[in-house]
Amino acid sequence: MRDAPLSAILLNWYDRNARDLPWRVGPAARENGVVPDPYRVWLSEIMLQQTTVAAVRDYFLRFTALWPAVGALAAAEESRVMGEWAGLGYYARARNLLKCARVIVSRHGGRFPDDHDALLDLPGIGPYTAAAIAAIAFDRRETVMDGNVERVMARLHNEAAPLPGVKPVLREQAAALTPARRPGDYAQAVMDLGATVCTPKSPACGICPWRDPCQARAAGTAASLPAKTPKKPKPVRYGIVYLGQRSDGAWLLERRPDKGLLGGMLGWPGAEWADTPAEAPPCDADWQTLAGEVRHTFTHFHLILTVKTARLSETASPRSGQFVPASQFRPSDLPTVMRKAFDLSQS
Ligand code: SF4
Repeated sequence: MRDAPLSAILLNWYDRNARDLPWRVGPAARENGVVPDPYRVWLSEIMLQQTTVAAVRDYFLRFTALWPAVGALAAAEESRVMGEWAGLGYYARARNLLKCARVIVSRHGGRFPDDHDALLDLPGIGPYTAAAIAAIAFDRRETVMDGNVERVMARLHNEAAPLPGVKPVLREQAAALTPARRPGDYAQAVMDLGATVCTPKSPACGICPWRDPCQARAAGTAASLPAKTPKKPKPVRYGIVYLGQRSDGAWLLERRPDKGLLGGMLGWPGAEWADTPAEAPPCDADWQTLAGEVRHTFTHFHLILTVKTARLSETASPRSGQFVPASQFRPSDLPTVMRKAFDLSQS
């Protein structure tokens, strides 16, 4: 298998089939000298971590409308950024996003560094994101590995060893194929191939530009690759949340600690999530348990929440949290699990 022709074949396919994404400078525009904006590349890559293109699209458009450049984002209020991020999940990303924007302004004069190591030094940027930004924004020859690329490499080489152990092998294979010419477009081309043709369940080998050299297609093993080491089932944790509203309409909310799950986000006061959560009402009141429950799945566990509600008196002095006036309360500022609890209380 000769490497150069493979990348050239894929780039040729990309020139005709690149996905139209709001953060992307497509191959035709690049050919005409349009250069990607590192701010938009960075923002999209942070949003796309563990999140689908479909979920990210509207958030990206809203963020870039509100904050069109890194300097504008750096000057934003943290609570505003967290509120706009609500619903996208993995909230540490939003806090690091703001930190990173501020470092870009204070240490780098508002310009993103253009090499992998300097990018890696920034808050919230790990090896994958540094490689993606260096390749896509600055056309560096980087090996950009995501789930799509791993799948395509495993199939192209008919690699039977399971993930995650086989990752270093797939990375070497991907590095060997990455061309010196147009590495940014090439990185996006492999991702597009994985997202639109070499899909997890039913790869469309008949229209694939790599169908001839693909070893898994020849062996008939494509749909079963990459192999995966079986995962342990996720544990279930339980919690109780308390939705208290004063007679003037104000809601009792609390900002979660910066460290930990949903860190820095607004939420309902409640008990620690555990196998058997203890009652932890934020103040004395006639708390009523709602029928039904909230179910939510995080990366490492399933959560089942009991929801309690109460009317609070004007003189209530909560042990935790603060009252947010009805006029300032936006359910859309809540992370999804907390919004589900609110929705249950309104149903
Ligand atoms: Fe994937 Fe099929 Fe293309 Fe091979 S031929 S890379 S399995 S879509």
